[in-house]
Amino acid sequence: MFIPKKYGQSKIDKCPFCQRHATAMNSQKVPVCQSHKDEVIDNLRCVCGLELETMHGKFGTFFSCVKCGNINMKKALEFNALKPKMHNENFSQRAKTQSNKEMTVRSDDPRYFD
Ligand SMILES: [Zn+2]
Ligand SMILES: [Zn+2]
Repeated sequence: MFIPKKYGQSKIDKCPFCQRHATAMNSQKVPVCQSHKDEVIDNLRCVCGLELETMHGKFGTFFSCVKCGNINMKKALEFNALKPKMHNENFSQRAKTQSNKEMTVRSDDPRYFD
């Protein structure tokens, strides 16, 4: 039996805030993880240094630079490191429990001061 491969449907989106698997969508229709579904992507900067304007088209969210024109989200995220603004208590609690279990924190470890 011939089963056609469905390209484009097997790809897993990553949450732009934490790089975990995206299983939800934020208000901008951007794939995000459950922890960051209330976050929005804004205040991104273009490669040229200008601030990008967030646009909403029929194919989803994209960005616009007055100098460089439209920039898709994938590209915009390549040169912008996103930091979630909201602190998710559950998530950080779980991360802490996990790291306690999986590694011994040494005082000279830079992660110790996180
Ligand atoms: Zn996330
Ligand atoms: Zn630009």
